[in-house]
Amino acid sequence: MATLKAVRGTRDLLPPETELWNRIEATARQVFARYHFGEIRTPIFEDTSLFARSVGEETDIVSKEMYTWEDRARALSEKAQSLTLRPENTAGVVRAYIEHKLGESGQLQKLYYIGPQFRRERPQKGRYRQFWQIGAEVIGPPFAGSESPLRDAEVLEMLATLLDELGIDGWNLELNSVGSSADRARYNDVLRAALVEIAPKMCADCQRRAVTNPLRVLDCKVPEDQPIIDTLPKITDSLDQESKDHFAAVTAALDAAGVPYKLNPRLVRGLDYYTRTTFEFTHGGLGAQNALLGGGRYDGLSEAIGGPKAPGIGFAMGLDRLVLTLQATEPNQDAAPPQVHAYIAPLGENLNAAALVLARELRRAGLSIELGDGSFRLKKSFETADKVARRIVILGEDELQSGILTVKDFSTGTQSKIPRAELASFLAL
Ligand code: AMP
Repeated sequence: MATLKAVRGTRDLLPPETELWNRIEATARQVFARYHFGEIRTPIFEDTSLFARSVGEETDIVSKEMYTWEDRARALSEKAQSLTLRPENTAGVVRAYIEHKLGESGQLQKLYYIGPQFRRERPQKGRYRQFWQIGAEVIGPPFAGSESPLRDAEVLEMLATLLDELGIDGWNLELNSVGSSADRARYNDVLRAALVEIAPKMCADCQRRAVTNPLRVLDCKVPEDQPIIDTLPKITDSLDQESKDHFAAVTAALDAAGVPYKLNPRLVRGLDYYTRTTFEFTHGGLGAQNALLGGGRYDGLSEAIGGPKAPGIGFAMGLDRLVLTLQATEPNQDAAPPQVHAYIAPLGENLNAAALVLARELRRAGLSIELGDGSFRLKKSFETADKVARRIVILGEDELQSGILTVKDFSTGTQSKIPRAELASFLAL
């Protein structure tokens, strides 16, 4: 029988690498707390129409990459429902914002999430079909200040702080404004007109996009199309005064805070819901998949999926790519030294239960303990213990009766006799 393996594009994360994942997540949680964000956990699957209406029918994500299935009706009264594994988390957060009427509090909602997302992309280094994102959203009614350019600048400043605290050096922030939905409609017309003549020279996807959603032509990754894309008009020239002023206020606040950025007028991001500020943080060490994170403003998203007016801004960073970046810059990141305080070696199977009691005592005192097995010979216990723990504690009949345990320290080679009552504090040293 063929051996079963993890599905293409998915992978197992094993210790000690998972230590690094946990460290990144813990740092992110601390930074989010300092900026007063709370955690949201939304379901891993949603109604398919949520993504079609928010991310956009013409995007690569919705048109090619979603894991979608028909959930059969279980009763005559039920209808089959089309469900999709979430390809991103902003749509789910905004759906939850609407469903729980979070806007009615009159406060800005500041929510972060950490979790897996699913896209049927061609797997390669840094690109997986199940990948993890850490993201955050700031969303609320306009009177709560959700449209303020200060919010954009604060989110970007927070990201700069988070990347610095994670120890990621050498990141680049690319920034653009895609304007309001009216600006984008105008730009789409300009693009459509510009594409009439040149689209036939482009890839099949671009030929289709040139008619249905010209903005998406800028997402094209086909190398031959890039020189053509470079000749297209820039979105910056289609912005109205209000959008220009908003963007100028964002960059002024970033300048004041000393957050470096580079303007990139081609940065439109591959999702339809973005308005005004869009951004990406890249890292040279990542190779072809160089985006650490991406995000932007989505002032019309809530209304597009049937909610109240609720402008917002957010981002999603690729946890897999943070891990790759840190592993490349500091190769020994996840080779954690042995954390185990002691290995308990019962001398004989009749002492297994007593060894479990001793391990329980020590673990409850806060120590990390590995429990051996009385069927092992003493030599095997020493060999096993030496690989995982700093010390070995021998538990034989004599030790059990006298309450004095033999402890050997592997780094110094010294052997000590320690009363059971003092064992926890001795091992903690
Ligand atoms: P997006 O939702 O496409 O803006 O992606 C935001 C971030 O998620 C990217 O900058 C990547 O770091 C990460 N990401 C997106 N797709 C993948 C993928 N297939 N595999 C790994 N990371 C991804």
